[in-house]
Amino acid sequence: MLTARTSLGVVFFPAFDWGISPTHPEREERLLYTQDQFKEEGIFDVPGIDEYTPEVGSFDDVNRVHFCVPDAQRICGASHLVSLGGAIRAGELVFSGEKQKALALVRPPGHHAMKVVHGNRGFCDVNITAIMVEYLREKYGPMRVAIVDTDCHHSDGITDVYWNDPDTLVISMHQDPRTIFPGTGFPLDLGGPNALGATINIPLPAGTGDSGYIYAIDNVVLPILDRFKPNLVVNAAGQDSHFSDPLTNMNLTSRGYAEITRAIDAEIVVLEGGYAIHGALPYTNLAIALALSGLDPSGVAEPGLTPNIFRRGQQIGSQLEEVCEEVLKLAFDPPRAGLKGDFVDGWYSRAKDIYYDTDRVTESQIESVRLCSNCPGLLHIDSWSTINPLAFCLQIPQNACPHCRDLGYDMFMRAKKNSNYRYLKLINRLDKEYLEQGF
Ligand SMILES: [Zn+2]
Ligand SMILES: [Zn+2]
Repeated sequence: MLTARTSLGVVFFPAFDWGISPTHPEREERLLYTQDQFKEEGIFDVPGIDEYTPEVGSFDDVNRVHFCVPDAQRICGASHLVSLGGAIRAGELVFSGEKQKALALVRPPGHHAMKVVHGNRGFCDVNITAIMVEYLREKYGPMRVAIVDTDCHHSDGITDVYWNDPDTLVISMHQDPRTIFPGTGFPLDLGGPNALGATINIPLPAGTGDSGYIYAIDNVVLPILDRFKPNLVVNAAGQDSHFSDPLTNMNLTSRGYAEITRAIDAEIVVLEGGYAIHGALPYTNLAIALALSGLDPSGVAEPGLTPNIFRRGQQIGSQLEEVCEEVLKLAFDPPRAGLKGDFVDGWYSRAKDIYYDTDRVTESQIESVRLCSNCPGLLHIDSWSTINPLAFCLQIPQNACPHCRDLGYDMFMRAKKNSNYRYLKLINRLDKEYLEQGF
């Protein structure tokens, strides 16, 4: 009788019946076929593998991570609270000791949602993976977390949320940004001034297949993880690098996904993208679940897999080798050259524009971090967009030093008296205080 070698909880929601529109790629069938496949294969009959339903998350869970403009209630619908609640449930399964590993198969995804949210980008509104991680930190205390994002698109949301957090390593493996949305994620982006080297971007040449991914994991991801020594590894897993995906040009097979899962060895896996709802998702998700539970995924039959695709996926080009070498070198000796902003009076500031492709909104920001040698420093963002007036956003980190904490409060009080601000947002992780005000 087959038994899971590693116990696994799979979080599903029985009715993912919401959609952006009938033809939108991020639609309800994305997970219904996976659910059918899991039941058909009898995976929940295997001792040690069990199905769970999500918690329903709260606006507090959202406000612990994001500055939502105008507010979380107007950004998040019920679907988001179930999706992020599913990720939280997966985290709880592992941290409560009920399961050794957990897989959250939920939607909508979140890895394109940045620190400030004015709307939907790349099918994402709120960052379900980051929200799960910060829920765990608030409940179980500070910890070093590594997030490896294997979605085909750059993890621009997760890297933005953790841009200046030295305790969170974010590694994004994605298709070369010159060839795909959102066009960011180059090796020189290494994180903020207090967290240089905690953001790692590995742009993979289009066409990188199973062996190429494993090469990049063995030669770049694992040495960096090894040095970071995380207490928790999370895999933000997008199933859109599959050869059948309609939006991407990578060449992964389900078996490749299983190998990737085994190599990264994350405790918690959260589904992000993946839009080949017939051809890829049911099989890649199944292969990932089998790999997580220590079972053999080689029996997963996958339609459309020809020897040609498999052969193409075996090639490791010199471009890939060069990228891996460059990224590893930068990770171990991160130069400040990627920091394009200004250093003034103990602060680093940069201006940036963010485009919300789904909602056609453009946001502008002045983002500043306090340079502090005793804590990750304050994060202050002035943000406005084509639909919202100026918002003042301030974060005091979970392990803030007393000086940063006091200065943060002073800044918030001063901003209250400044009539230029229409919204005030405070994330005070130290005192677990999340304030939202609008005028
Ligand atoms: Zn994607
Ligand atoms: Zn400080």
